[in-house]
Amino acid sequence: MVSMGDFNKLQNTWCPACGNFGIWTAVKKALIKLNLGPDDVLFVYGIGCHGHMSDFLKTYSFEGLHGRALPVAAAAKMVNKDLPVVVSAGDGDCLGEGGNHFLHACRANQDITLLIHDNQTYGLTTGQTSPTSLKGYKTKSTPGGVIEVPANPLLLALSAGATFVARGFSQDLLGLSELMVKAMQHRGFSVLNIYQPCVTFNKLNTYDWFKERVVKIDDSHNTADKFSAIKLAMQTDKLAIGVLYEEKRPSYEDELPQLEGTPIVKRPAAARDISAELKSLQ
Ligand code: SF4
Repeated sequence: MVSMGDFNKLQNTWCPACGNFGIWTAVKKALIKLNLGPDDVLFVYGIGCHGHMSDFLKTYSFEGLHGRALPVAAAAKMVNKDLPVVVSAGDGDCLGEGGNHFLHACRANQDITLLIHDNQTYGLTTGQTSPTSLKGYKTKSTPGGVIEVPANPLLLALSAGATFVARGFSQDLLGLSELMVKAMQHRGFSVLNIYQPCVTFNKLNTYDWFKERVVKIDDSHNTADKFSAIKLAMQTDKLAIGVLYEEKRPSYEDELPQLEGTPIVKRPAAARDISAELKSLQ
């Protein structure tokens, strides 16, 4: 029987009260609920404060280049289709440096779960504007306030073809962990955007700011209705948390005949004598 302590690794160094703590705890609860131990799952991280979870969460893990967590995860899934693969990425990492990968991962629908630690700022580099920063947000990189409108990860995911789209809040531990379980149980590309206050650098989007705005999606919402999901994703006065959209569509792995049967990583290596070809080149 796996316990929360089995997932602990090095001593945590996030700022006290950082929203990442809620995500870390919810992940451990979700893995236990799914009966997955540290040796049963791969987490791939980008660069940012979220990426430090690779030091605090004991699973198979890989901390990739900035914005490049999704391609690493895609490759891992291709060679071992039976391995649960989760990507943890920040809002800057996923939608800035990795924005192109994000769109195409949604289209591809590989059986991967993406957790976006959305603190609406670049925390690791001491608080610059990120793609999800609100218009007018003042940072050291935008002293006059952000000019652009914010990217909406949910709308992007819905329009690009993700088959599971949800939003959570790091302070809603139980709700968040349930969303993680659903996202990981979904077969296909699941996107869970998580509001994660950066208490040190984002003085606009604080715990209180979110508590005044987040509302749980009620049971009357039809998660198969994409237009209703889009409407919920577009709300800005109230911020809907829960599952917005879920669709059953064959995953990339399901559609690729080469991946049928035994995962590539478990197949015997096929040695082939290529000396004749090499001689012909001389
Ligand atoms: Fe968390 Fe912000 Fe501190 Fe990073 S800088 S650990 S996001 S509070």
